[in-house]
Amino acid sequence: MPNFGFVINNRTCIGCHACSTACKSENEVPLGVYRTWVKYTEVGHYPDVRRNFQVTRCNHCANPPCVRICPVTAMYQRDDGIVEFDPDVCIGCKACLQACPYDAIHIDPDTGTAAKCHYCAHRTDIGLEPACVVVCPEHAIIAGDLDDPHSEIRRVLAKEDVSVRKPEQGTAPKLFYIDGNDMALHPTATAVPDTFMWADVIDERGAPPAADRSHGRSKADSGTAILDPGPQAVPDGGPIHFAQGRMAEHMVQVGYNAQHQIPWHWPVPAYLVTKGIGAGVVFVWTLLFLAGWAPSDRATMFAVGGIGLFFTALTTALLVADLERPERFLRVLLRPQWKSWLVRGAYILVGYSLVLTAWLAMTFFDMPPNRPLLVAAAVLAVGSAVYTAFLFGQAEGRDLWQSALFPFHLLLQAVFLGAGALAIVDLASGRSASLAVGVFATSLIVDLFVTLAGEFAMPHASETAARAAHAITSGKYKTMFWWGAIVLGHVAPLALLWFGAAPATIAAFVLATVGLYFYEYAFVMAPQEVPNS
Ligand code: SF4
Repeated sequence: MPNFGFVINNRTCIGCHACSTACKSENEVPLGVYRTWVKYTEVGHYPDVRRNFQVTRCNHCANPPCVRICPVTAMYQRDDGIVEFDPDVCIGCKACLQACPYDAIHIDPDTGTAAKCHYCAHRTDIGLEPACVVVCPEHAIIAGDLDDPHSEIRRVLAKEDVSVRKPEQGTAPKLFYIDGNDMALHPTATAVPDTFMWADVIDERGAPPAADRSHGRSKADSGTAILDPGPQAVPDGGPIHFAQGRMAEHMVQVGYNAQHQIPWHWPVPAYLVTKGIGAGVVFVWTLLFLAGWAPSDRATMFAVGGIGLFFTALTTALLVADLERPERFLRVLLRPQWKSWLVRGAYILVGYSLVLTAWLAMTFFDMPPNRPLLVAAAVLAVGSAVYTAFLFGQAEGRDLWQSALFPFHLLLQAVFLGAGALAIVDLASGRSASLAVGVFATSLIVDLFVTLAGEFAMPHASETAARAAHAITSGKYKTMFWWGAIVLGHVAPLALLWFGAAPATIAAFVLATVGLYFYEYAFVMAPQEVPNS
């Protein structure tokens, strides 16, 4: 069985885009998305400047995280090493886009399913080479069997120094670059500009970013060297002026690149919050009940089980609604790929919902609390709260999400949300809520410590994780983080709980919930904004 891979020779590539065009034509790739593209980086000191071309696409990794995370085997690895996808199976969960550390996957706007370079598998199967290989006028793209000692690709690899993109990710890419350029290989080595050579960079709403365009390139807030705007000026609509007749002294910039949309938006942070309430209220009440500290009257049992089931159902609804192909959601259960935490999580949510349904049915028929059922509910509540940490861990394209503290942090969030909800149940029943309020306040304080000292003050494992953390605490999301998550979500609720009055407790729960949404929003969005290509 062959083991297919690519060699791309940057030394001979002329940046003609024939490969991108042939790929579009051969695979009927819609406008606005790309299975392969040519990234331009421009580096140098005037007058010794150079533009580098890098043909960029799926690496057909030997150890592909996109395959591991796919819940329905829509993304799969063939025996010949090609990482292929099946649009007829894909549910459009976008998890593979988060798992790929190379921005190689997109959602096809026509089908709502994942798509990427598939090595022109339909051609390879009948002995033809991929379309990009055939069309390249410089023979800069070499495809073939990496295991065949007589193949051209094997001979080239034997005599050339080659590099791959992000070898530290452990994905074992099988696309090798001759004369790979550091600036092109490392997506964060250059700032993302406001404009490319032939196109404006658009934001998520399809609009140009509100940056100063007077120089045609923006100053990056990252501190990375880009075209120095100092001595030159490009008045709107006017000619370019060069002070002292000189170009920028030093230049490192992206001239052209494919743009990638952010896959996950508000439904994901919203589902993290609803899941926390649904899991936390049952977990906290069950622990208190088993310790003999919580009442188990019918109204309380109804309230706790009902809140748990309602918010878990809301969580499931948000998850389904966020699919590009929501009508296919049952495939997560019916054709599961068991290594995916999306599948494991779905089964946990279903199991948890069934146990809570049994809980409510037994309460309805006035049966006493069943301890094995309560223990099962508490265990599934913990699973429901923390499984997302392992799902995010499989999203290997987002380094900040790989935090070892994340499962503990999610459980802590569920505890303070659940205790807050339980305090309201106690107050509505006319009982003292002091125990639930105590758990609420204590877990909020611990969460504040874990958030500030654990998640953000500790050194980060990679430069991309540090960039995302910087965007949260000191960059684009700093207001949301400090005023929303910390002040509104922690300091204000703790101050309100100090008063001890019923309205203050309710307000504290609402603020803690809203503050957590702000935190989760920043935590979900910031890592997705660090470029992977
Ligand atoms: Fe291709 Fe990305 Fe999957 Fe690697 S992780 S096989 S580059 S889609």
